[in-house]
Amino acid sequence: MNAPERRIVQIRASALSDFLDCPARAEAKHLRGLRTPTTGGAALGSALHKSTAVFDRSTLEGQGITVDEAAGAAVDALHKPDEEIAWEDDEGLKDAEGAALALHKLYCTKIAPTQEYAAVEVQCERLEISDIGIALTGTTDRVRKVGAGYGIADLKSGKRAVGADGTVETKGHAYQLGVYELLAERASGIDITEPAQVIGLQVAKTDRGQRVATSGPVSGARDVLVGDPESPGVLQVVAAMIHAGTFPGNPRSMLCHTKYCPIYNRCKFRK
Ligand code: SF4
Repeated sequence: MNAPERRIVQIRASALSDFLDCPARAEAKHLRGLRTPTTGGAALGSALHKSTAVFDRSTLEGQGITVDEAAGAAVDALHKPDEEIAWEDDEGLKDAEGAALALHKLYCTKIAPTQEYAAVEVQCERLEISDIGIALTGTTDRVRKVGAGYGIADLKSGKRAVGADGTVETKGHAYQLGVYELLAERASGIDITEPAQVIGLQVAKTDRGQRVATSGPVSGARDVLVGDPESPGVLQVVAAMIHAGTFPGNPRSMLCHTKYCPIYNRCKFRK
């Protein structure tokens, strides 16, 4: 008799961190589709992704779009958002616009000239991993030439993206970088053989506090994702959780807050 076919559940690559942090919140957001309004920080990050991609794509394709012209994509994203944005105060939009313009310029003048990109915002429609019953979707920020091969780069913005000493923290990001490597390979057909890199965009209100920097190389990013014969990787852990329908809460999560959790007001795990 044939074994029953395993159900395939599709999730976004960016959902993996939610499943590891608070499975109950992840189930609500990524399996049931419940939402919270976008935070100002997330809106700023998304705006920076858009404007820097316009600039890098133009460089790659020789379109000649200037730094200032590309910045318009960030301004548009903040002023004409696709989703509701919950700004922290009346100055939120103005502050975000100021930070977006400053960080966009820093990225385009300090980081972009040091990179040789092969692809910008590589979107993978579906990467099915049938033996564990999940399919991943997502966009890899950049594929870059590294020596004779290619590696990926992931843009991260936030108030702790780049330390005062200019270092970009990569601890805990390896599995996310690993999944973006898999998605980039599937979508672009380029073999990703070289270490990954995180590009940090430090958000602050003052010029002094705004910084951009690149991390050191992150090797073996896929190891923690796929595991080994002795211990399961992140993908197996998350897939097992989804197929078992077991989603414990984590009230100690940094994101256990009404701003980030759509079931905060009725969550039994907070009691
Ligand atoms: S309220 Fe807290 S513990 Fe409950 S699902 Fe949300 S983040 Fe998790």
